[in-house]
Amino acid sequence: MIKIKNLCKQFGKNEVLKDISLNIKQGEVVAIIGPSGSGKSTLLRCVNNLETATSGEVWFKEQEVTGKKADIQKIRTKIGMVFQHFHLFPHMTVLENVTYAPKTVNGISKTEAESSAKELLSKVGLSEKAEEYPGRLSGGQKQRVAIARALAMNPEVMLFDEPTSALDPEMVKEVLDVMKSLAQSGMTMAIVTHEMGFAREVADRVLFLDEGVLVEDASPQAFFTAPKSERAKTFLQKVL
Ligand code: ADP
Ligand code: MG
Repeated sequence: MIKIKNLCKQFGKNEVLKDISLNIKQGEVVAIIGPSGSGKSTLLRCVNNLETATSGEVWFKEQEVTGKKADIQKIRTKIGMVFQHFHLFPHMTVLENVTYAPKTVNGISKTEAESSAKELLSKVGLSEKAEEYPGRLSGGQKQRVAIARALAMNPEVMLFDEPTSALDPEMVKEVLDVMKSLAQSGMTMAIVTHEMGFAREVADRVLFLDEGVLVEDASPQAFFTAPKSERAKTFLQKVL
């Protein structure tokens, strides 16, 4: 589904991603972990060209995202993204947030968009909030709306960048539960997270990044019980 070959990304002289190669298969759930500043967000953002690679290749199925002729707008409709700080449209109701892109980008009728939005809102447990504005929701509810909004475009891959990092502790589980059921439904997912328990339980693979280097690409079992690198060992000692 996603192929990354020798990806390098520099901001000025700062080499943020150093020769990253990895594949994500259809239906796979990959957790991306590592210290702050190690390049996790940049890696995720290179997948849908929110950041442009300095060199190397990124492929989404048979399309080269990094290619000169890539139709990035079209590719982005197939790659859903969820951010730490939700990025909901504050002046729109929950229902309008979820139906906006399907209507304006995909040209879906209002009736159809609303009926599938309501289905998605029920899936994330927010049916009763359809007419509410984001400002009146809790962080956990906002993030579940953001997930429903991303899913409304029928993406083939979902990227999550620390989706629970801005939440109060009691709201983390409701968001992780939604992500877990999405994973179980077969969605292809790449998740930057500090939730080690979630990574261990839900991910098929763990990628460990440190200073822009993909240091480990392993099963959660292998990574959490017997990390190969000193860098991962040190990291795990700090967070577990
Ligand atoms: P992480 O998500 O792992 O915390 P990031 O990918 O956000 O790490 O950042 C990796 C490095 O790239 C950091 O040194 C950060 O300061 C730098 N960086 C990220 N985005 C930009 C940007 N738009 N311009 C300049 N430097 C950036
Ligand atoms: Mg980040």
